[in-house]
Amino acid sequence: MDNILAGVVEFATDLLLPPRCVHCDDRLAFARPAVCSLCISRLEPLGDPRCARCGLVLAHRAMVCWRCSDWPAELTAVAAVRYQGVAEAIVRAIKYGGWRHLADICAEKMADTIRLRGHQPDLLVPVPLHPLRYRERGFNQARLIADRLAMRIDRPVVNALERSRTTPPQVGLGRADRVANVSGAFARRRSFESSATVGLIDDVATSGATLHAAASALIVGGTGRVVGVTFALATDRNAG
Ligand SMILES: [Zn+2]
Ligand SMILES: [Zn+2]
Repeated sequence: MDNILAGVVEFATDLLLPPRCVHCDDRLAFARPAVCSLCISRLEPLGDPRCARCGLVLAHRAMVCWRCSDWPAELTAVAAVRYQGVAEAIVRAIKYGGWRHLADICAEKMADTIRLRGHQPDLLVPVPLHPLRYRERGFNQARLIADRLAMRIDRPVVNALERSRTTPPQVGLGRADRVANVSGAFARRRSFESSATVGLIDDVATSGATLHAAASALIVGGTGRVVGVTFALATDRNAG
């Protein structure tokens, strides 16, 4: 019902407001706000060299990665683009503007990344929101993206995790505080075969603390391999 209502609201807004690019504000010929082709072309792939395990861009190839040094061996991660400029505008437009259809742009880029990097998961598990935040927002952006990604790579979505406690937003916290903030925040609703590779889906990764905490809940349940797949990766170390 929530989805139908949101769809009606989105459609009514399309009729009332001329569609514009969510990043550069240019008028669009589309039926609803979207991202213009010039802005799409400005989505920045992550550079090289990169950490083979977590995808963080490193200053040089031999560098030891600080970001994933405490991750369990079963967890790796990939991201499609850098979290800045257009990517940031898309994520914000989905999360705070309610423009759910933009999740398709994220899914398309993530599907390309999965194919390119050979990290094909057997199933997709979205990082859950706490029920209180879900009620405020009306949707989980990770689930929106996972549903669209599932259609592109032909894999099922399984809601295998739940938030076991509320956590303050990660924005503005340093790395150590981010890790402490989400540690133990996820509970497993179901387990998978140890041979399964689970794609853990979220919109943005920063410190990797959320992926780490959510993956740990799956791994404790016997999941053999978890690949965190996010649309964007915030690469600023100071962002935590
Ligand atoms: Zn634009
Ligand atoms: Zn790393």
